[in-house]
Amino acid sequence: MLEILRRVIQEVNAARDLDTALDIIVDRIQSAMATQVCSVYLFDEESNQYVFRATRGLNPDIIGQIAVGKDESLVGLVAQRAEPVNLNNAPKHPRFRYVDNLGEDEYNSFLGVPIIHHRKVLGVLVVQRESRRRYDESEEAFLITLSAQLSGVIAHAKVTGVFSGSAKELPATRFPGKSGAPGVAIGKAIVIYPEADLSKVPERITKNIDRQVQLFQTAIEETRDEISVMSKKLSDRLQPEELALFDAYLHMLDDSAITGEVISVIKEGIWSQTALRRVIDAHVATFDAMEDQYLRERGTDVRDLGQRVLAKLQSKDTKRKSYPRGTVLVGEELTPSILASVPRGRLAGLISIKGSGSSHVAILAKAMGVPTVMGVEDLPLNMLEEKPIIVDGFNGIVITYPNKEQLNLYKSIIKEEAAFDADLESLKDEKSETLDGSRVRLWVNTGLMTDVAKSLEHGAEGVGLYRTEIHFMMNDRFPTEEEQRLIYRKHLKAFYPRPVTMRTLDIGGDKALSYFPIKEENPFLGWRGIRVTLDHPEIFLAQVRAMIRANEGIDAYLRIMLPMVSSVSEVDEAQRLISQCYREIVEEGVEVEMPDVGVMIEVPAAVYQARDIIRRVDFLSVGSNDLIQYMLAVDRNNAQVAELYQEFHPAVLHALKQVVDATHAEKKFVGICGEMAGNPAAAILLTAMGYDVLSMNTTNLLKVKWAIRSFEMTKAKRMLSRVLKMDNAYLIKNYVEGELKKAGLGRLIRSRQAP
Ligand code: PEP
Ligand code: MG
Repeated sequence: MLEILRRVIQEVNAARDLDTALDIIVDRIQSAMATQVCSVYLFDEESNQYVFRATRGLNPDIIGQIAVGKDESLVGLVAQRAEPVNLNNAPKHPRFRYVDNLGEDEYNSFLGVPIIHHRKVLGVLVVQRESRRRYDESEEAFLITLSAQLSGVIAHAKVTGVFSGSAKELPATRFPGKSGAPGVAIGKAIVIYPEADLSKVPERITKNIDRQVQLFQTAIEETRDEISVMSKKLSDRLQPEELALFDAYLHMLDDSAITGEVISVIKEGIWSQTALRRVIDAHVATFDAMEDQYLRERGTDVRDLGQRVLAKLQSKDTKRKSYPRGTVLVGEELTPSILASVPRGRLAGLISIKGSGSSHVAILAKAMGVPTVMGVEDLPLNMLEEKPIIVDGFNGIVITYPNKEQLNLYKSIIKEEAAFDADLESLKDEKSETLDGSRVRLWVNTGLMTDVAKSLEHGAEGVGLYRTEIHFMMNDRFPTEEEQRLIYRKHLKAFYPRPVTMRTLDIGGDKALSYFPIKEENPFLGWRGIRVTLDHPEIFLAQVRAMIRANEGIDAYLRIMLPMVSSVSEVDEAQRLISQCYREIVEEGVEVEMPDVGVMIEVPAAVYQARDIIRRVDFLSVGSNDLIQYMLAVDRNNAQVAELYQEFHPAVLHALKQVVDATHAEKKFVGICGEMAGNPAAAILLTAMGYDVLSMNTTNLLKVKWAIRSFEMTKAKRMLSRVLKMDNAYLIKNYVEGELKKAGLGRLIRSRQAP
């Protein structure tokens, strides 16, 4: 059974388009289940009906011509209930509807199962036969399993109109994702794809056919040499039949086989890497379809060979050095160093297939003010190269090949936003206080030196979170104490006399160092933040020393902050190391003040122990990005569960209030530096809770200031006490946003639907 399932899925994946895929589905199911009829109905958004799209056994001439609503017929019943309907005498069922010309007169038993993707019934798979025998349990289970596996591929094909990689052009399409950073960008897609991954090679043409042929031939020669060398090296360790594999590889590289085919595709004007991918894909598909398991597995060899040639080709082809104006970077998984590789003025937008709005790359994009959409899972990467594209970072939508109407709408949004930002500029030197005079400090989160100028221009009163790991991530080895000292010193000087909060190295989770790989099953529950640095005191001590020494002669208000703390013993240990650094530095004759030390509250355990923790340190700062993920058990990086990642979740709000109360009971200082602090609606509630500092990315600073200056503390407190009695995140969000709109702040809550 598993084998049949695997084959059908593979064939469907390799299909050219949706109709071919549906045809394969009905054909293979009909024969696998030895049933007389198999049909597929797919949901059509426009008519709100399920359309008859493919069949074996019924009248194929009326494919596409009949459709049923949810409240009619047996197919409608399957969709309505979102569960299988299994009948031995379908024509007797009250929901049975006779359709002229469909040709189902003689069929009595009926089994329909829904095709469900992300809770939506995309379609219905139906099998029918003459005999009045119900389909048995195992048949039903087979169809359910197949449908569950096919739903993702069908959903993808419904959105794109194509199956990944096989079509040459991408139609104009709107792809849903998650908002990563607000704003709109209209530009050209520049795809970043992992090296030597054949499946990620984009569709590209070439004007220089001769050069591409020559590059390809050299790559083939090098691959041949490599294989011969490998074969010789292994000759005394492998059996003759295993060694024969290398001969087979060399044979495949003959002019009469793969090489010849690739060259003829290049001669049609296709880029060598694209040509290679197309030819290898075709060969792999042929092997995959073979009955014989041994032959089927040869498909893997062909792919392996293709990867080898690709690696050679990629080492020849010069890497992209120039990015056009209006570059929209698109990648499976973007990293901070990829962002940094594009010159600032050229980067218009970002699109990541993986991740969600709380992923670190999205946070960085927000700080840089680059509109970003994350988790656009259906976007076919390899068809986007240099294609026109719109990034709607407000709504989390990507539009490929936008039409005139869409372009005009988005151009007007860009204009409006620019005008709005210009209006907000007038607030930059105004106090951040409520209408009735309660003060709340608005600080910024930084990471790159480029954030600094922008933060100061926007009137930042301090740095609430300096993500020092970003500098580590841009390097190819641990930076030395002196290298760190110089960078930290620049930061302290630039913000002087404002306070600067430096967080000690926070790696792990989705923040990787190429030179210090951490491989874990559950990285967010693993070796992260303070856990890593306490296990490596040499890294921690060098960093803390660099921070303290950076302040020599500046005498800035330096604060050191510890990430991912889950117990007081971690705080005690870190404090001991920090004191050790300070003592050593003083002994070395350097005159500096002991910095304030604080702890990030990012783990539920730390919420419950906030009072014990604050007694030991000078301040607390809530890292709501992680706190939400750990409280709600929702991976901040996973687009699939992004809807469940809720800032306004009642449990989160109560925890946030508890942290303020614990800190203020000890008469100490508390802030929040997660993304939530930069959301104007949330900022009103946080102000009412009593947070002394809201630290956010610069882009949101003036928006939050406007919101705070538009409310009275008494009113904000009334809102908070009402919210703390509510039990549903959606209702809380609606209520608070409603109050912002009533206060004339509707422009802060942008949610537009693209045409
Ligand atoms: C947080 O978790 O809220 C935080 C500020 O840290 P980071 O986003 O860098 O994990
Ligand atoms: Mg964090």
